[in-house]
Parts: sequence; structure tokens; C-alpha cells
Amino acid sequence: MSSAAAPEFGAGEASIPPGADLAAAPATSAVDAPPVPGGGGVAFEGVTVAYKGDTVLADFTLTVRPGEIMAVIGPSGSGKTTALRAIAGFVRPVSGRLFAGGRDVTDLPPRARGIGMVVQNYALFPHMRVAENVAFGLRARRAAEDKVRAEVASALAMVGMSSFAARYPRELSGGQQQRVAIARALAIRPELLLLDEPLSALDAQIRQSMVEELARLHRTLPTLTVLYVTHDQTEALTLADRIAILREGRLVALGPSRELYQRPPNRFAAEFLGRANLLPVVMEAPGETPGSGDRTAAVRFGAARLRARARAGIAASESCLLCVRPHDLFLAPREPGANSLSASVREVRWKGDLHDIVLEAEGQTLRLTSAPLRAPPEPGARLTVHFSPADATLIIPERPHG
Ligand code: ADP
Repeated sequence: MSSAAAPEFGAGEASIPPGADLAAAPATSAVDAPPVPGGGGVAFEGVTVAYKGDTVLADFTLTVRPGEIMAVIGPSGSGKTTALRAIAGFVRPVSGRLFAGGRDVTDLPPRARGIGMVVQNYALFPHMRVAENVAFGLRARRAAEDKVRAEVASALAMVGMSSFAARYPRELSGGQQQRVAIARALAIRPELLLLDEPLSALDAQIRQSMVEELARLHRTLPTLTVLYVTHDQTEALTLADRIAILREGRLVALGPSRELYQRPPNRFAAEFLGRANLLPVVMEAPGETPGSGDRTAAVRFGAARLRARARAGIAASESCLLCVRPHDLFLAPREPGANSLSASVREVRWKGDLHDIVLEAEGQTLRLTSAPLRAPPEPGARLTVHFSPADATLIIPERPHG
């Protein structure tokens, strides 16, 4: 979904974040600022934020390319919102620099940063009709009336809310209100859109369709850079080109969404991005052919010998974890050379569109999910599960306090 085209930030362009005090925020021009890291996108460079001496974001460095959707995920309190607030200008870092649209915005007020922001609880002005809400940012910067009308119409059309222009927020559902909030952020044509848990107040079904709509919206605005904060890994995987994972104020994993899911760099990333089987194994043969793309390593899991993608940094006889996703385990062999593991069935759960099977192998619990089975195994049965070495990732165990 990323685009090679670098958008140009209009100097002085800025969105009006919900509730922001516009009058107090003069638009400072930074057209003369020298080119800086981040190009047309966004960059955090060694950003540290502390509240009353407590560091909640530590030495955070992240570059978001122009047109990219970057999801920032992590548990509650890990510093996600703080990172967004820093780039939006609502919190001042103790150290580090912030760049947006090729400019150093660290010292600019929020209005001057060219950023649109949507937060989780709509924050629409209740006394204003939809069209007035969407026009708010444009009016605040004194856009001509015909431009306001055109931009409002275009932003509402983008989120499928044209026919609701005359309604008040209280006459809209939660999903519709959040669409209006997105239209309001887009009306000023920001180069950067910050979304802070924009769907978390909505129910599951609406969330899913909104995720699809956001993906569609980005296809129509391919140069829009999006920084998307969520604690929901499915939203992140569905929408984002890349994902950054925060833990206790620190960046612990970063990569293209699919790669991060398939080959998590650490246990935290493996478990945060979905269900994972993490088997304690001991390295036997780290893999012999350096430089070749699909080397495999051999590890020992109890009495079983398994193969996994080779991974630098794990020496023979070192302990590590083998990560394999439940949907990558199969009850029937699917390819020559696949791993096979003898297991006993503990529980079988039918969940409508899938079967969830809990197994025990070498004293460890394993989960396998499959499309619904006509003849599922019985609890207590012994069987063999299979998985491809390509779906097995080795994880270096975390050193205590390191
Ligand atoms: P997340 O978005 O990942 O849930 P936040 O960035 O909101 O996390 O918060 C990170 C940490 O900073 C939390 O421990 C939170 O309690 C603390 N925090 C956030 N805002 C403030 C504030 N205004 N004053 C003091 N502490 C804050």
C-alpha cells in the first residue's frame, strides 16, 4: 500500500485535533527549515518522553515512509499514544527530534505540523452538524467558503457519509460518528494522518468493516502517510505495511507486517501478534550453508528432532524457542521433508469456522487450528502432527533483565 511518490507538505497546513485550542496555536511557518530525515513521511529520532520524571517512551527511533501505513501496537500503557502525541505536538520530548514532511517539527506548535488526528472517542462537536464538524479545520484557517464547501463534500464522500451532512452527531451511530471524525481529519488534506485506537469504541462487526474501509480509503489516497495506534493485532496486520511493537516505552520489534507475523524476532512479538506455539528446544545444527536463502537448522525437542529456518546468533547446544503458529500445524503430511511430531489429543473444540485442537507432545501443550474436520480426532487419541521447517522460526531466549 505504500507509494513511492513523496507528498509535499504545505507549510503551515495543520489539522485541528479535537478539542484543541486553536486561538492559542499560531501557525508558524517552517518553509525555510533544511531537509531532514524522514523525507515526506515521519521520523522519530531518539525521542524520549517523561511525565513527572517517569520515562514512558525511551529513545524511540522510527521512520515512516511517505504513503506508508505504520501500525504502532503494544499493550496498554506501553507508550503508543505518547508517541502519537509527541508527533502531533501535544507533548514535548525530553530529548530527541521529530520530523514530518521533511521538516523538523520538534519545536513547532501542533497547528503548524500538517497533521490530521483521529482519536478513539469521536470527539465531534455535539452542537455542530456533520458538515460543520468537517469544515472546522478549514474554517479555523480561514479557507474561502467555496473551498470549504468543496473539501467538506469531498471528505464526506470519501467516508461514505455525504447524505448525513445535515445531521447532528447524536443522530449517528458510533461507526458513523467515527467516519465523520475521519472526514474531519482528512478535510484539511493532511500529509500525515494519526489514528489513535480509532475503532476501539465500536463493536466487533463494525470494527471489521471500518478496517476494510480504512484500507479502501488509503487506496484512494495513496500518498497519505498513516500512523495507526492500536492494541488489536488483527487490525494492525490487516491494515499496516509495517508494524512497530512497543513494550514498556521501548521499540521491541519492527518489520513488514507479514514478516513480523511469520518470523517474529522475539517471544514478545510472537505472542503479541497472534497465537503461537513456543516449544523449548536445543540447537543441534545451526545450518551449514551461509548466504543461502532457505537454510534450515536442526533442533532437539525432547526426543524429537525438528528442522526450522536457520537463525544467526544461536550456537550448537544452546537453548532457544521454536515458534510455530497453530494454523501451520497439520494432521496430514503436506510436503516431503516436513517435521512430524507424535502427540496426544487433549481437547477438541469446534468453533463454527474452525477446529481448535489442544495436543500434548514431549510434555508440552500445542495448539492446532484447522478448517472444520468431518471426523475430528477424539480426546486421548495419539496422532502425528506435521509442519514445514519454513513455518518454524527460532527465537533467541530473552536474557533476564537484558
Ligand atoms: P498506550 O497508548 O500504549 O496505552 P500511553 O502512551 O497512553 O500508553 O501511556 C504510557 C504511560 O504514560 C502509561 O504508564 C501512562 O499511565 C502514562 N501517562 C500517559 N499520559 C500521562 C500523563 N498525562 N501524565 C502522567 N502519566 C501519563
